[in-house]
Amino acid sequence: MKKKLLVLTSGGDSPGLNAGVRAVVRSGYYHDVEIFGCHDGYLGLIKKEIFPMAITDVANTIQRGGTLLRTKRVPEFHQPEVRQQCIQFLHQQEIDFLVTLGGDGTFRGAFLLEKEGGPKVIGIPGSIDNDVVGSDYAIGYDTARNTALQAIDKIRDTAASHSRYFLVETMGRNSGFLALDVAIGGGAEFALIPEFPISIEQLAEKINHLRRTKQSLIIVVAEAGQPGRSLAMAEKLQILTAFEYRVCVLGHTQRGGSPTALDRVTASYMGNMAVESLLKGKSSCMVAIQKGQYTLAPFPDPNKPARRLIDDNLIKLMDILSI
Ligand code: ADP
Repeated sequence: MKKKLLVLTSGGDSPGLNAGVRAVVRSGYYHDVEIFGCHDGYLGLIKKEIFPMAITDVANTIQRGGTLLRTKRVPEFHQPEVRQQCIQFLHQQEIDFLVTLGGDGTFRGAFLLEKEGGPKVIGIPGSIDNDVVGSDYAIGYDTARNTALQAIDKIRDTAASHSRYFLVETMGRNSGFLALDVAIGGGAEFALIPEFPISIEQLAEKINHLRRTKQSLIIVVAEAGQPGRSLAMAEKLQILTAFEYRVCVLGHTQRGGSPTALDRVTASYMGNMAVESLLKGKSSCMVAIQKGQYTLAPFPDPNKPARRLIDDNLIKLMDILSI
């Protein structure tokens, strides 16, 4: 009998998820596996709504942002009895394998689902924050940082023309990867990231120092779990430096858009690897990139709120190049 595989996207969306789903569907068909999908992450399981996916369902999707399977944050999935109902449903439907595309939270749910008797699961990391513990890269990150860079380039033109100081706020939840890369790539003067907090007074002092040589300034601010925090910062800086600041919150523009080549190729590779690894008997893990190599890595420990660490060399580089 043919094996059955279900694919879903969960948690925060990121560009390239469609390329990943496409690779799962096509690799499944290639290996004679029946493929199913569901909408809205784990909500599709709770609602007991899964559907067969044909090869044509993923035609013309590799270049599209967002996720055709849609995604949702589903707090009910935290409840063991809700997960047990999903497991019963998946058994009734004779689903052997599950591929989940998402971030740390998605993988915590997937880990528990398999451990509590559900189908064999492999995860594919997707996150514009690039904060999935155990993988150096998550699908969507490259597209998000390029989107933010394009915005910074445009802001730089107007900042230079009007001799203005700008705070540009990036997403990133509680991690500073996106902000730091965007600050370095965009030639910004400062990157404020949660991993290396500095007080507003210290920042004001540094700005006052740079003002002797710089007509305009760009300060990249990671949202750090408080979207919009750069607005209050601008007000405080204005008082401390007696200078006016403009604020640009990039927000959800960073989540959308057609994925870059890197995200499409990574998603394609990871989708294929997830399917072939399941068929080889691997499970309860995610496809990851570590030191430039594709590998299988354990799901992040659900009991440990760990975080990926920022490379100290990048922080140093930022300091050196922004003098
Ligand atoms: P991401 O996957 O992008 O990190 P979330 O943290 O919102 O996004 O997680 C996505 C979904 O995964 C949640 O809405 C929930 O359905 C499920 N999930 C997250 N954490 C757990 C957990 N500890 N137990 C069970 N399910 C979880």
